[in-house]
Amino acid sequence: MARQLLQQCLQCGAWTLSTTCPACGAKAQAAAPLKWSPEDHRAEIRRKMYNVEDTEWAQSLATLETLEEMKATHVAEEEE
Ligand SMILES: [Zn+2]
Repeated sequence: MARQLLQQCLQCGAWTLSTTCPACGAKAQAAAPLKWSPEDHRAEIRRKMYNVEDTEWAQSLATLETLEEMKATHVAEEEE
């Protein structure tokens, strides 16, 4: 079964809801790309590409300053 309702004939370009063209009888396929999905289907490929299991990658991520550093900065700003 077709994954999408609207199909277009590969031969004559006619529109149809069937996978067989009503005009020439050739094969028709989905007229538009499949719906976008919030699932990240390429996440595994991306993780491999960035080599996320490597400790070097983990260290390259942005970090917040420690709580002690934040407190020190905050106190210093209030005293001004
Ligand atoms: Zn056709």
